[in-house]
Amino acid sequence: MTPTLDRLLQSIDAKRDEVVALTQDLVRIPTINPPGDAYEACAHLIGERLARKGFAVEYVRAVGAPGDSDSHPRTNVVARWQAPQPGECVHFNSHIDVVEPGPGWTYEPFGGQVANGRVYGRGTCDMKGGLASSIIACEALIESGLPMSGALEISGTVDEESGGFAGVGYLAERGYFSKPKVHHVIIPEPLGVDRICLGHRGVWWGEVETRGRIAHGSMPFLGDSAINHMSAFIHLLETQLQPRLQGRHTAEPVEPPGARVSTLNINSIHGGQVEQRYSLDERGWPTGDLPAPVVAHLCKAVLDRRFIAEENLEAVKQEIVDMLEELKRTRPGFDYGIRDIMSFVPTATPKDAPVVDATARAIARVLGREPSYIASPGTYDQKHIVRSGKLRDCIAYGPGILDLAHQPDEYVGIQELVDSAKVMALAALRLSSPAHFG
Ligand SMILES: [Zn+2]
Repeated sequence: MTPTLDRLLQSIDAKRDEVVALTQDLVRIPTINPPGDAYEACAHLIGERLARKGFAVEYVRAVGAPGDSDSHPRTNVVARWQAPQPGECVHFNSHIDVVEPGPGWTYEPFGGQVANGRVYGRGTCDMKGGLASSIIACEALIESGLPMSGALEISGTVDEESGGFAGVGYLAERGYFSKPKVHHVIIPEPLGVDRICLGHRGVWWGEVETRGRIAHGSMPFLGDSAINHMSAFIHLLETQLQPRLQGRHTAEPVEPPGARVSTLNINSIHGGQVEQRYSLDERGWPTGDLPAPVVAHLCKAVLDRRFIAEENLEAVKQEIVDMLEELKRTRPGFDYGIRDIMSFVPTATPKDAPVVDATARAIARVLGREPSYIASPGTYDQKHIVRSGKLRDCIAYGPGILDLAHQPDEYVGIQELVDSAKVMALAALRLSSPAHFG
């Protein structure tokens, strides 16, 4: 490696305490989603820091998007540093929301404590550590004084955990993730310092309802139970569809390997009266909201169907409709409705795409080993960048262990923060200012 690039990497080693401190500062802002707490404060922490470093900073509130309100504004931050020479733009996108801490912590969930060479706290791994690494990487590049072309962008966006519609979805529809503004995107999700995530499986969320006829619960034969009808449908899902899906294998390197097939989860089911809350009083008498005896006339189930690159969305839906139609033909009284909640097709960036190549070379230089290539079982914000931004040159790459995401005692390794910052800096330099690499 040239001496100038060596110096760049050494300067990132020297920022070890800084990347830790930044991760801690970010984690100490409890941006819990739902409901979407403290987004404004977190966006401003990022924006004000980057403005001091010479970035042009824009705050974009997703007015009118799902979840946006004056009490919980969906505020995104987008910062851009323009190099003296024209060229391509590399964008680092991180979501700033985290899921609730949940029980079982031995560390303070929003304390950002350092122990065992790690930073602990909700969001350290998913993905404020990655955000901190990308900020340190860009700052090191700018401070290096290396002649640069193109532009560097960093965004902190909201609501990834709930679909990203007020975050990357909102921005992508408005041109923030499209050429000629942006050419390459790296999303520092916690996939591990030596793994490049090329894309994800597809998803169809849908709601199926079964219909019956209400009657007195003491004479169920006079009604027709929607719950019994739903149970017949679920029986078909379990005995016919799920075994079929297990046999459909993808060639994509989805991690964990158990997700290299199609899957179906019944996300929720609600039938009959709304849930009652009752208990027994000291005499042993029922008290609270007591149920009244009725045959359920309606039952709804939400299905979460993940599909592989070898399948298509229309066929995925049709397969479920066919089963419902089969029941309609064969089961007396069966009636149903089905509707879409949301869907995204699978996405996979080609291995020879510029952002993949640049990141792979950077991993080899920094870590001295070849990267592995993976795909994600679930979707993340890449879906919006591909669909609305029409930008294909996008990957997820960042520090942290994916399995720790959303768990108690979530952490990110400090050495991983530093190493991934080096990889991000080299990749961004190669993409924006290729002259440095001969
Ligand atoms: Zn995440």
